[in-house]
Amino acid sequence: MMTKTRGVTQQLPQIQNIGFRSPKVNVLILFPKTTRTFGWKANHPGFALVLGETPFPVKSRQQAAAFHHPFVETTMHLPHLRRAAVGVLSATLLLTLASIPAPAQPDYQLHAAPVAATPADPAIAGALTQISADHIHQTIQTLVGFGTRNTLSSMETDLPPGQGINAAAGWIFAQFEAISKDCGGCLEVKRDTFTNPVAERIPKPTTLTNVYAILRGSSPDSDPAQAKRMYLVTGHYDSRNTDVLDAHGAAPGANDDASGVAVSLECARVLSKLKLSATLVFVAVAGEEQGLNGSAHLAKLAKDEGWQLEGVLNNDIVGGNTTPPASPNEETLQRKDTVRVFSEGIPATATPEQERRIRNLGLADDAPSRQLARAMADAARTYTTGFAPFLVARPDRYLRGGDHTSFNREGFAAVRLTEWREDFNHQHQNVRVENGVQYGDLLPFVDFAYVASVARLNAATLATLAASPGTPQEVKFDMHGLNNGSTLTWKAADGAPKDIHYEILWRETTAPDWQYSFIVSSASPATATLPISKDNVIFGIRAVDSKGHRSLVATP
Ligand SMILES: [Zn+2]
Repeated sequence: MMTKTRGVTQQLPQIQNIGFRSPKVNVLILFPKTTRTFGWKANHPGFALVLGETPFPVKSRQQAAAFHHPFVETTMHLPHLRRAAVGVLSATLLLTLASIPAPAQPDYQLHAAPVAATPADPAIAGALTQISADHIHQTIQTLVGFGTRNTLSSMETDLPPGQGINAAAGWIFAQFEAISKDCGGCLEVKRDTFTNPVAERIPKPTTLTNVYAILRGSSPDSDPAQAKRMYLVTGHYDSRNTDVLDAHGAAPGANDDASGVAVSLECARVLSKLKLSATLVFVAVAGEEQGLNGSAHLAKLAKDEGWQLEGVLNNDIVGGNTTPPASPNEETLQRKDTVRVFSEGIPATATPEQERRIRNLGLADDAPSRQLARAMADAARTYTTGFAPFLVARPDRYLRGGDHTSFNREGFAAVRLTEWREDFNHQHQNVRVENGVQYGDLLPFVDFAYVASVARLNAATLATLAASPGTPQEVKFDMHGLNNGSTLTWKAADGAPKDIHYEILWRETTAPDWQYSFIVSSASPATATLPISKDNVIFGIRAVDSKGHRSLVATP
C-alpha cells in the first residue's frame, strides 16, 4: 500500500513543494463547500484544489475537515487504484496544478482551526464555586480593622494593641495556617522577614515581613519534576494615607490593597482542596507603598533559591470601586465585567542582544508576561462567564508601579490586575470629608462580589497552569535557509506526561491574541512543519494534557 502511495508523490515533485513535508504522505483533494460535484476536473469553475502531504496520517473525514475546515474533503484511496491509473492520475494532477487559481484565503487561514475555549475541568469549576464574596468581605474588613498597615508602623511601639502592620502580618499568617489545617497541613506557611536599610521612603532601618504559603504540587499521577514549576499570586497588605511616612494615622487600605490580599487568601482557601501537578504560592507582601521593597526581597529570594517560577499574578486595587456618581446625571464609567491586566512586552531583563532581536523581528508583544496575560484571557473563556480580563499591553499605568515589576526585574513573567476605573479620592488619602466629599480608602467603596470575580479569574488561571503539562521548552524555528514554510521544534517540559498533545498557535502580527490553531496530536517527535510563512504571522506553542489543561504559550 505504501509503495503505491509513495509512488504517486515521487511522480509529483511539484506537489511536495506546495504541500506539507512529512514522512507520512496523504493526498487530500478538497472542494469548496459551494461545489457539490464529486470528482475533479481541471478548470472546473470554483474549483479549489489543495494537494499535498499532511503532517499526520489523515484517518478520518472528521480529522481532515477539522484540519481544512473551510472545505468539504474527499480523501482519495490511492492504494486501491491500479498502477496504470496512478500514472494517469499523476499526469492529470500536474496539469491541474498548473491551472489552479490562487486560493481565496491566505495560507495562514487555509490550514487553521480557530482557537476555541478548552472544556472546563469539573474539579477546577467546583473550586471556583467555593469563592465567596462574604468571605472576601470579612477578610477586607479585618484588614481595615488594623487601623494602619503602613510598613513603617512595624517599628512603632506606641500603637494601640492589635493595630499596625505587625498585627496584620500575624493575622494573615494565622489565616494561611487555618487553611492548611483544613487540608491536612497541605500548606507550608512562611514569613520572609528582613531589615530594610534606610531608603527614600524608609527613614530608619525597618523590619519588613512578607507572608506566604506554598502548596506543593501533589497530583498522585504526576512526575515529581512537574512539582518544581511554580505559579504565584500576590497582593500587598501594607497601606498608606496622604503621607507615606505616617506610621500612626488611619490608613484603611480597603481597596489598595486589602482587596488583593483577599484574592491571595481566597485562592489559597479554594485551591488547597485540589491535587495539582505544579506548585502554587499565595503571597501577601509588605513595603509596596515605600518602593516595592517587600516584593523585591521575595523576588530575589525566589531567584536565589532557584524557584522555577513561571507566572506571577499581582492583584493591586481590585476592589471595583463603588463610589456613586456626584450627581444622578453623571456616569462613573466603572465596569464590573472586566479587570485590567497589565503586562510588559519587552522583558525587563532582556539583554541588548535580545532587545535587538525583538526589534528586528517585531516580537515586542510576546514576552512571557504577555503570554501569561493571554493565558488569563484563555482561562476566562472557559471558567468565568460574563467576566473577562481586559489586556493592556504596557507594564503598568502612567506614573504608577507595582509588585509585578519586582518579579519582572528578576526575570519572571508577572502581570498586574487592577479594577477598570480607579477613584483617586479613595487611594493614598487621609480619611476626611472635604466640601461634602468623602476621602479615604474605606470599606464601603469596595464591591465584594467584584473582588470575588477577580479571585475566580486568578484561581482559574492558577489551577489551569498548575494542572497543565508545563510550558514547552527550547521552542525554535528551523532556520536552515530561506523558505515560505515554518518548521518548529521544541522540547517537553520536565516530567511532562506522555499522553499530551501540542497546539501550535499563530496570529497576524497586528492581532492582540492567538487566532489560529493546529493540533499536533502526538507528543513526539517534537517538531511540526506548516506551509505558513513565519514572516507574516507570530507563532507560539502550548502543551495540552488529556483533560484539556493548557500550558503557557512559548514563542520561538
Ligand atoms: Zn497598591
